[in-house]
Amino acid sequence: MQHLTGLVVFTDLDGTFLDHDDYSWEAARPALERLRENNVPLLAISSKTLAELHGLNDRHHLFAGLIGENGGVLEIGGDLRQPGPATQTIDDARSAIAKAVSVPVASFRSSSTDQIATATGLSLGDAALAGNRNCSDPLIWQPTENDITLARNIAGEFGLKLVKGGRFHTLCGETDKGRAMQTAIALLQEQQKLPAQRSDITSIALGDSPNDAGMLAQADIAVQIPVKHGPVPTLDLAGKSALRAPAPGPQGWNISINAILDDLSQTPTAITKAR
Ligand SMILES: [Mg+2]
Repeated sequence: MQHLTGLVVFTDLDGTFLDHDDYSWEAARPALERLRENNVPLLAISSKTLAELHGLNDRHHLFAGLIGENGGVLEIGGDLRQPGPATQTIDDARSAIAKAVSVPVASFRSSSTDQIATATGLSLGDAALAGNRNCSDPLIWQPTENDITLARNIAGEFGLKLVKGGRFHTLCGETDKGRAMQTAIALLQEQQKLPAQRSDITSIALGDSPNDAGMLAQADIAVQIPVKHGPVPTLDLAGKSALRAPAPGPQGWNISINAILDDLSQTPTAITKAR
């Protein structure tokens, strides 16, 4: 299995490694075991907080590194990096927004666990993990259109963005998963867990949604996992192509990783690096 040297795998969690409905990764276990046997580092890269990722990893020891808040903060081998905005900048921008708009502004960082649980429907334990944020902050407010415009402008003055997710407007920086992936590879090289030469490294990335596109575009081997319910999004991969997993969630993850490992270990030239 010498051809698997220099391999590193980055995976999105929700809808990719974890089943969309029950958050199970059980179906990925065979490929996961194979990565482990070959000492291939697997890194989680998610919109979740580091605290939430720790909640999963401390129980199951799945990942060699955790990348949270959409690439804003990384923890790998005890090294903590925050390419995202400084926590103080987030808090300062939120205070400035609260002063300018016509409605009260709370947020995950500034609220109690009880308040986050009420706003999200999460359990108290999960609300505490979701509120433990480094470099992005979902606002809890009922804004007018004018408030949103004001808040966007103020965020911009602090070098931040205000991004509307499913439910919340989130104050965050310009970081993305693709850049975080490159930072993680450099850290793993420093820690001698990957070869010193970038050309000796093959990165695999798996994701299912538009916020994974930057990561898939920069991976040597990209895998788009189809979404379980509804249409599969067209991802902007900057001209690169991605393999399509034959099934959603951890089932597709398992089949895709196994197929890639088969190719790499049997015919190392079968997959040409796109770099
Ligand atoms: Mg996802």
